Formats: sequence, structure tokens, C-alpha cells
Amino acid sequence: MTNLAGFLENSAREFPERTAIVLGETRLSYPQVDAAANQVANLLVSRGIGPGDKVALSCPNLPYFSIVYNGILKAGATVVPLNVLLKGREVAYHLGDSDAKALFAFEGTPDLPIGKEAFEGFGTAEGCEHFFLITADPAAPSPIEGAQTFGAAVAGQPATFDTVDVADDDTAVILYTSGTTGQPKGAELTHRNMRSNALASESLFGADAAHPDTYLCVLPLFHSFGQTVIQNGAFAYGGTVVMLPRFEPKAAISLMLSEKVTFFAGVPTMYWGLLGALDDSVDVATLANNLRVAVAGGAALPVEVHHRFEERFGVTILEGYGLSETSPVASFSPYGEPVRVGSIGTPIRGVEMKLIDPDGWDDVREDGAERIGEIAIRGDNVMKGYYKRPEATAQAISPDGWFRSGDLGRKDADGWYYIVDRSKDMIIRGGYNVYPREIEEVLLTHPAISLAAVIGVPHETHGEEIKAVVILEPGASATPEEIVAWGKEQMAAYKYPRIVEIVDALPMTATGKILKRELS
Ligand code: AMP
Repeated sequence: MTNLAGFLENSAREFPERTAIVLGETRLSYPQVDAAANQVANLLVSRGIGPGDKVALSCPNLPYFSIVYNGILKAGATVVPLNVLLKGREVAYHLGDSDAKALFAFEGTPDLPIGKEAFEGFGTAEGCEHFFLITADPAAPSPIEGAQTFGAAVAGQPATFDTVDVADDDTAVILYTSGTTGQPKGAELTHRNMRSNALASESLFGADAAHPDTYLCVLPLFHSFGQTVIQNGAFAYGGTVVMLPRFEPKAAISLMLSEKVTFFAGVPTMYWGLLGALDDSVDVATLANNLRVAVAGGAALPVEVHHRFEERFGVTILEGYGLSETSPVASFSPYGEPVRVGSIGTPIRGVEMKLIDPDGWDDVREDGAERIGEIAIRGDNVMKGYYKRPEATAQAISPDGWFRSGDLGRKDADGWYYIVDRSKDMIIRGGYNVYPREIEEVLLTHPAISLAAVIGVPHETHGEEIKAVVILEPGASATPEEIVAWGKEQMAAYKYPRIVEIVDALPMTATGKILKRELS
């Protein structure tokens, strides 16, 4: 099996009676999901889309995500999952940059008002000729001129399909991330990259197809953490994915109880939310008894959350570390070994990690003292490169295959790694990565703003909040509230600065770089 869609196909063949996806009252078996994905593949082939083509997907955690994702793969094409919170302007950038030929986008519903923006992006991207609108009611007519509904497009397509052969190093997925610098770039992840990382579930969490897990899927599937650890990991081992399109702690807890969830993976803020929602009405004993594995990643897990969760659930949170570029898991708390709180564990099987000089590729000398260096990663999980960006790829990956993470770390005497800091300019707000440069560039398009510096400030539940410190154009006027409201219109909800401070001058270095360290 080379094609990543082979996980779904195998499980449909071997476990035809098992439930692949649960969403509310809807329960889809493996053969049902596989057949629906086959219809998508047939649809794409009928439109002339196949190997080498890119197909964008903007869909929250709904069965459609897994169906379309696997359908695109089966056709031999590349999936470009989009963050569902992107605004039209941002969607247009992603469609254009990835050379997407088609877009599948969820239209949003009153309960789940997500996705409308993707339509605006569609019309403006050249070369993206096919638009399939995923409507909540598959029989509903298309409300948009020029767009066919997903329901109408797949109707009549055969439910069988011969999956297209691909090579291990063909690109399966392009995940947009800013890497260590500015503008979003597409990390090209191959079938081998994605498969190897999903199969790591066996050694990392003891995944076993004979005893399948029930996964609560609250991590967004468009991001590598949810895609690999939940969706692909579950499909590889015939597990059940219980979807919750929007994380809400009380709803998550009630689903964990009703569906007997055995596997929870989340970013630290989700753990914080779960702990906060455990009131007297919650049957914590049953919840804890069902839960077999708890995984955190995406941002540093506060020690306090780790201890409180273990106290209430009797389950230790296993912390992992990685990036979109590494499919994502690079290191993990070794399964079955006592956790070292605050550590990101050891490199996973088939992956090497080392510390390098942040200004070059030289190894940090290991001379007994604990040294700090930039974490570099090599292995089957490391992306092929950034799509159409050879220079950025050469900066990120050394000739001998080491990928530089932009994270500063240290290693203890037993080889466990710890994140010390980020060397890259990045804010993590509620598990979402936000790149100040991207926000600053948007702020500078405001007619009253002449200079902007965006920083992260500590926030109790989000970890960090985004703050903009701006200088106004001479004679211009704008209030912080107006700038916040304007930013909200321009940028996805997790990106726009909630705090704006207007100043007369910003601290600068001799070379004219804004000294962000001096801002707070
Ligand atoms: P992404 O590409 O969205 O997966 O983000 C990757 C970044 O998230 C890494 O470069 C780290 O800065 C951060 N990250 C991921 N896992 C952890 C962790 N366990 N502890 C601290 N930071 C993390």
C-alpha cells in the first residue's frame, strides 16, 4: 500500500462492520465512507483531475472532510486542506499559491457558521475552475451561481473506484504553514511522510487494530495534528472517529461519556477547558475509566494542567512535539515509561533529532554541560519541501536531510528533549500559530497606520494573546477599538489583534529593526 487512502480501503475491507465516523446521530461504517470517497474520486476523474493536480478542501470536522480528503487521494491528486477560519482574501492566496484546480467548500450553517468566506476566495483565484459547495442538506440547490453542490456533483457517480497508483515520494497533502518566516508556505508532505507518521501510533500509543480506539476528534482536521493522529491514525487501525465540529468543553465531555471515548488528543487550551468543565454533574469516574490515551501537542503543556489532569483522570498526558513540516510528530513521551513533565519526550521510531547552531548547520557541541540549540529533525516524516519555493526549502532542509525547526531546545542526559524557547517569530494563541509579520503586513494596509509591531502577551486560557503596537500616520486619527474592529474584518478570528496600543515611537535597533523584546 502506498496511497495514503489505503488506510481507509484496508479498513473497509477488513472491518466492514465497524463504524468509521460518528457525528451526532449519523454513524458511517468503513464501507460507507470508502464508497463515498470513491464517488468523489470518480467525480474528479470525470473533470480531468488526477495525478499532479491540487484540490483544495475547506471543511470543518464533518464526515465530508474525510470523504473528500480520501477521494482526492484515491484520484492520485494532492489535497490542500484550508483553515476554515480564513477570510476570502486569505483563501484566494492559498488557492493561487497552491495552483488548486478545484475547491470543495462547506457552506456553513446557522449552527456552524464556518466557510462562507471560502466562496469569496474562489472567484478570484485563476485556474481554480471547479467549485463544489458542500451544503448541509445534500439535496439543496446551489445558492451560488457557477457552483455545483457536492450532493448534485457526486449523485450518480459510481461507488467503486480503482485507486490510482502513486509513488511513496509523490505529494499527498500540501499543508500551509509559515515555517520560520512570514508568508504562509505550502509544506509538501508525501504519501510516505503521512503514512509513516500515522503508523507511529502503534509504538506511541499502543494502537492495535484488534482493539480499536474511539477517538474524540476536536482538533481541526485541516491541521496536521488532527489529520495524522486522529483521522489517519484511526483509519490505519480501524478505529472510530467521533467528530465535534467546534470544541466546546461540556459537549466534548458528554460525547466522551456517550461514545465511550478511549483516545483524546488536544492542544493545551483544550485540556484547560475540559478541566474547567468538570463540575459535580459529570461522571468523572466513568470518563476516566474509558480513557486509555491522552495526548497533547501543538504548544507547551503547562505543568499545572498536566498534574491536574492526571489527578482527576488518573491518566497521564503524553506530550508530543512536531510541526506541519514533520507530518507532524517528531518526538513523544515514550509509551509505558514514566513521563518527565515539561519534556517533549524522545525522537519517535525512524526519526532522528539533534541540536544545531541557530545561525548555521553545525551541531551544538555535547561536552557534558546541557547545551541549548535549535532542534533539527531527520526521518521519514520530514516534508519534501515548500511548494514552489526552492530557496525557502534550502534554508529549511540541509543537503543531508536535516530540517531546522525554529524551536530552541535542550536534551537531558537520557536523551529526552525540552523546548526552551522559539527562535522564530511566532505567537501561539489557543493552539493556533500566528505569525506577527503576516499581521503587521495587513495592519500596514490600514490608511491611518504607518508602523506596526505585533507581539504575543501572556493570556491565562489562550496561552498568548495577540497585541499590536502601532504608530499612526501624521495627522491621521484612529482609536484602538476602531483598529481592532477593522482587523477583525480583514483576518481570520484567531489572528486579528484583540489588543491595540497606539504609541508615538517604537524601540529600534541600530539597524532599524523593531526591538520587540522591549514591548509588552
Ligand atoms: P504547526 O506547524 O502548526 O504544527 O506548529 C509547530 C510549532 O508548534 C512548533 O514549531 C513549536 O513551536 C510548537 N509546538 C508543537 N508542539 C509543541 C510542544 N509540545 N511544546 C512546545 N511547542 C510546541
